[in-house]
Amino acid sequence: MPQRFIFCALVLLGLAGLQGATAISAQGAAPAWTASLEDIRRTASLIPGRRPLRINFLKFAESRRTKNFSVKDAPATPSIQARTAFQVVYPDASVMVDAGMDLTVHRFFGRGVEEPYFPDAAKQVEQAVGKARLIVVTHEHGDHVAGVIHSAAAGQLAPKTILTRTQVQALMTSPQMPEIRLTEDLARRFIVIDYDMYYPLAPGMALIKAAGHTPGSQMVYVALESGREYLLIGDATWHMDGVRLMKGKDAPWITEDQPAVLAQLTWLNGLSRTAPNLVVVASHDEEQQVELVQKGILASRLE
Ligand SMILES: [Zn+2]
Repeated sequence: MPQRFIFCALVLLGLAGLQGATAISAQGAAPAWTASLEDIRRTASLIPGRRPLRINFLKFAESRRTKNFSVKDAPATPSIQARTAFQVVYPDASVMVDAGMDLTVHRFFGRGVEEPYFPDAAKQVEQAVGKARLIVVTHEHGDHVAGVIHSAAAGQLAPKTILTRTQVQALMTSPQMPEIRLTEDLARRFIVIDYDMYYPLAPGMALIKAAGHTPGSQMVYVALESGREYLLIGDATWHMDGVRLMKGKDAPWITEDQPAVLAQLTWLNGLSRTAPNLVVVASHDEEQQVELVQKGILASRLE
């Protein structure tokens, strides 16, 4: 091959490479995390059928931590972290978002300090999980997932529980506590999915991939038959001030992908302008939950 031809080809390749680089820098760096509400709504409309009628939740335990852990730079004033599970009620069935936890897993979170645990409520969560048609979890931490793993009924619950591939991986290789380590045998019994951004879960429901808090974090969008919309954001923040102020947690015992968390909080903050009627619900914000119950937006009971 003539050397001149090779030289020309290399120059052309080099130019193409430069053009590519220019195009990328002109667009700017992609945010560490983003989502499109329009795409989420479309995804939630894909599965035919009647949409849910209402959302219930129940608090089965508490952590007593000062607010500065939940929201960076907040004052160290007392703050209750409610541990909760959500029940999306359809005309003929229910879907559980998060599955509660037993007393043993609860004690892990107290780190030697006995924190409030409500056995009657925990029992009701267990019953609701048992009766649910389908179960999903916002992420692979014990207070959300133990109810379908560290449970005598795990073998029966797994075939109606959807876990993401990332959640399964984390639960098998680096579980938050030994009690929720997934064995290969049990892992095989779950419905395991893998998706890039959005996943149509049920009529009116979509999963949204949400890296940041844990590798397997996801948010759950719900559009009721009435038209009311909810976004169950799991532990994207522990207190809604995190969304309002766009500030992450300041808890030394957890490791998060900070840029992804902040990008997600920024996006959630923007929803208050672009979708003011959409109700963003954090798993652990006791103050918000009290307010939503008072307004009739959430019911504090399970059916
Ligand atoms: Zn949690």
